[in-house]
Amino acid sequence: MRHTRAHTANRRSHHALKTPTLAICSNCGAKHRPHHMCLECGFYNGRMVVDMEAKKKAREERLQAKREAIRGEEPESAESGEPATAEVKELKGGKKEEARDEKKK
Ligand SMILES: [Zn+2]
Repeated sequence: MRHTRAHTANRRSHHALKTPTLAICSNCGAKHRPHHMCLECGFYNGRMVVDMEAKKKAREERLQAKREAIRGEEPESAESGEPATAEVKELKGGKKEEARDEKKK
């Protein structure tokens, strides 16, 4: 049903976004959500809750390992991608036939 402009405007009067309330970290001075750990330093209520530096290091190490794995795999798959898949298909077919034979016996 079509609404008047006034009706639409009245409904949209509640659509404005509110600015989030933020507290200032007592350890590093960054803004964080109140009653939540500071995402910059991992402190809450004056003590370290999560070791954010160790987490960042672990994350970087994980990402690097992933990148290296991708770099290592790419040239191999590009060179011998087609013959490798053909071999796999043949092996799968052979295995399936063997399995069927065993069931029949
Ligand atoms: Zn902080």
